[in-house]
Parts: sequence; C-alpha cells; structure tokens
Amino acid sequence: MKIAFFDTKPYDRPSFEKYGEQHGVRFKFFETKLNEDTADLAQGYDGVCVFVNDTVNAAVIDRLYEMGVRIVALRCAGFNNVDMKHAFGKLHVLRVPAYSPYAVAEHAMALLLTSIRRIHKAYIRTKDFNFSLSGLTGFDLHGKTVGVIGTGRIGRAFIDICLGFGMKVLAYDKFPAQDLVNGGRVEYVPLEKLFSDSDIISLHCPLTEDTHHVISAESLQKCRRGVVIINTSRGALVDAEALLQGIKSRHVGAACLDVYEEESDFFFEDYSGHIMEDDTLARLISMPNVIVTSHQAFLTEEALLNIAETTVTNIREFTETSHCANELCWRCDKAEDCRDGKCF
Ligand code: NAD
Repeated sequence: MKIAFFDTKPYDRPSFEKYGEQHGVRFKFFETKLNEDTADLAQGYDGVCVFVNDTVNAAVIDRLYEMGVRIVALRCAGFNNVDMKHAFGKLHVLRVPAYSPYAVAEHAMALLLTSIRRIHKAYIRTKDFNFSLSGLTGFDLHGKTVGVIGTGRIGRAFIDICLGFGMKVLAYDKFPAQDLVNGGRVEYVPLEKLFSDSDIISLHCPLTEDTHHVISAESLQKCRRGVVIINTSRGALVDAEALLQGIKSRHVGAACLDVYEEESDFFFEDYSGHIMEDDTLARLISMPNVIVTSHQAFLTEEALLNIAETTVTNIREFTETSHCANELCWRCDKAEDCRDGKCF
C-alpha cells in the first residue's frame, strides 16, 4: 500500500514512519499541500494522506480518481476541506475522529489563562528585566460563566477543566448530551442565552453551514461587554473582521485564536521575513488582548502518536476488509460518520 503524504512537517515523519513500517504502509512525504496544482504527485499511489489545509475539492477529487487513487486518509478529525458529496462513489474518506481531545482542550485553557493573566506581556517584560506590574491586572476564572459551543470530545474535556477552575458552564450543542446535564453541573441553553450570559465563549463545534460565522457582528452584539472569545476549532466559525471591530470598539475583552478563517495562506509556514498581506490577521495580531497560535492545539506527543497510529490502522483496515470504522459517509447523514460502512 503506497500513500502520498501531503503538507509534511518534520514532526509528522517519525510517527508515520514508525507505524507505516509496522503495518506495511509506505509513505512518500511531500512538503507541498494537496491542491489542483499538486494532485498529479499522487500518480501511482493508492491513497493520499492529508491535513487540515490541503484542498480536496471537486477538481482534486476528479483528478485523484482518474489516476486510480481510492483513499483519502485525513490525519485530522475535521473534514470541512473535503467536498464529501463529490467524493461519494469515487474516493473513500477515512479520518481520525479523536486523537487527544485533551491536547486541544488544554491548549484552549492555556490560551485563556495566558490572555486574561497577561502572561504573554509579563514574559516579554521579565526577559528584559522589567519587573513592573502596571497593566498586568487580570481576573479570576473562579465563579465566571463559560459558554461552550459544541459538547463533543473536546468540548467535554474543556468543560471538565473549566469545572475544575470553579466556573459555571453553559453549553449549546445541536445534539445535547443528556449525561452532561444529569450531572447537574452543565446547563444546556439556547445560543442567544449562551451569548448574553457568558463571560467567556469557547468554540468546539465542527465547521458546517450551520456554524459558519457563529461568532459574527450580530452575535457579538448579544454578548456581554468584555466577553472573551476562544476559537480552537475552525477559523470560519468566527467572522474575523467582525471580531476585529469588536476588539477595536472594546466590546470584546480578548480573543484567543488557534485557527483563522484564511489560515491556509499562512499557518504552519514561516512568514517572519515577509510583508503580511492579510490586514485583518496583522491587525488582530497587533492587539494586546489577542493571542494567535498557528493551529497548534493538536500538537502534543500523545496526539501525534495517536494520529499516526489511527491513520495507518484506518488505511490497513480498509485495504484488508474494504471497510473502515472511521470512514466518513456523505450519504448516511450529509457528511456525518457512515453508519454501516457499506454505502459504496
Ligand atoms: P466531536 O465530533 O466529538 O464534537 C463536535 C460536537 O459539535 C458534537 O457534540 C456535535 O453534536 C456538535 N455540533 C455539531 N453541529 C453543531 C452545531 N451546528 N452547533 C453546535 N454544536 C454542533 O468533535 P471534537 O473532536 O470535539 O472536535 C471539535 C472540533 O475541534 C472539530 O470539528 C475540529 O474542527 C476542531 N479541532 C481542532 C484542532 C486544533 O488543533 N485546533 C484539533 C482537533 C479538532
């Protein structure tokens, strides 16, 4: 089984080489992202292995299919970069539904604490032997209300952390989980109430038509003055321009962003010697109360190993049995997991 691996980073190779060797899956590592211009590199391979910013649109799917590629092995959970409807009947799309929800949830909390306790400012000051505390006043998380949108694996892990901090948790999910409510420590509320009653809002839902720009100028207006927005999920959940306006008007107290709407143009690459072309991103980064990390929430040793192991297992399972428990299926439920793995 030969797999063309796109958007390779140095931290990807050790774990994929290790598990690939163990399971007879040979990877060819390409640094370039998969898109219309690079799809031909997959000629002669059985499948492609892609990450969040590779493009698997209709044109790429058609080209891969023409070349005999049959598997798209996503080494991530989200699949908003794949045209699932177009892939149906052509390519089997496998993913890693969970690798370490703790990695992402802990990063969300790390961003929140950094931001509200001004750690990013204090770090730079003390490096320069500036021990002044002026302007570093933060606020307690204990007793504050956090609104969590999306209570799946990562949302739950984040809720557990917040409960440990003594916070009140409001939640919204398209499919509320009764067991969370039964504990009595989490209250599911309509989105409107979550917006109006939360001091902090953290996004843990997938990017879909429903959730696109769930944080917009309109929803921000419903939020408390000083609200802190955390997005470790997908960039387009937040209308970045509206967020910037919210920051400039002082209505939004802080923003912690691990993802950005137009991140595929910049994230994961070193642009330190370049002129930043994206004015919104540049302006957000320039704000003292905005912290941006480059889609690194997943990046822990545990997560990297789990990602590689599950991806390789998915490929092997599918090759040997024509079935994979982690296959995504558009027909089953318009891009939810395939219920029986037998749709095509
Ligand atoms: P999950 O599938 O376990 O949970 C997603 C939850 O969102 C589910 O409970 C689902 O019911 C809910 N949901 C679906 N549609 C919704 C809607 N319209 N409104 C509100 N809730 C809705 O997924 P997860 O593993 O918890 O991951 C959540 C997201 O985190 C992923 O979709 C991915 O985009 C993102 N993610 C980011 C990183 C990173 O490195 N920054 C890493 C992994 C995942």
